[in-house]
Amino acid sequence: MNILNLRQLIAAIAISGLWAGPASAFHIVIDPGHGGTDTGAVHSNIKEADLVLKVANKLKALLEKNEKFKVTMTRAADRNISLPDRVKLAEGSKADLFVSLHANAASDQRAKGVEFFFQNNLPPDEESLFLASQENQAVLNSMHATDDTSNDLSKKGDVAAIVEDLRRQNRITSSLRLTQTLTQTWENDVRSSQATIKQAPFYVISKTSMPSVLIEVGFLTNPREAKRLTSADYQSDLAQKIYTALVSYKEKVDKAEAKTLN
Ligand SMILES: [Zn+2]
Repeated sequence: MNILNLRQLIAAIAISGLWAGPASAFHIVIDPGHGGTDTGAVHSNIKEADLVLKVANKLKALLEKNEKFKVTMTRAADRNISLPDRVKLAEGSKADLFVSLHANAASDQRAKGVEFFFQNNLPPDEESLFLASQENQAVLNSMHATDDTSNDLSKKGDVAAIVEDLRRQNRITSSLRLTQTLTQTWENDVRSSQATIKQAPFYVISKTSMPSVLIEVGFLTNPREAKRLTSADYQSDLAQKIYTALVSYKEKVDKAEAKTLN
């Protein structure tokens, strides 16, 4: 490693956006999974694509009532959008956070609860890998997409490599903080179903450069949970809890930023 020009490094970090400027609205991309001909999991007469769009719309409505947030949806209707296009949309909008919504299916009918997935560098367990391969299926149909989001660090200078590394570390730490905040919100509510943090190489949370989470809101294969998921009240409750967690996460980010600046 060459000796770095500190001023150059600081300038690069500032440009990279790791140090956000004065607070503008916190921009969240909500990504309702699947859509159009890709229905996602279908069980007990529930289409995953429909269910997650309903929860996404409720979450969007809550966030838009709060001026601190700005929302972009990857899809607002029942339509096809490829996984690479979802990532492109998120990257293009320079969002602060990416939240993908899905519903789970398992061969064991007893499986239940909410699962929060984030992407880090640890090897995922087999079950998570299988789920990720199911959720990633759509991308196999659009493999022509060029994988230009990956970075070849060796071609870059030291400063760029360090900024890239800081950005990646920041993304992992923030994504973990986000999933922990979500889990706490679930644990604070005694009526909640169980909530688990997992990690798996889902396409959308692996390829986005901002902190991201993929939420499996429940198991369509669990008859009791499937019934609850069809209830509009329960969908609102899910949206409300995610909203509460996002508000709490943003407060943590603001506090951390204030500390850095002081
Ligand atoms: Zn899904």
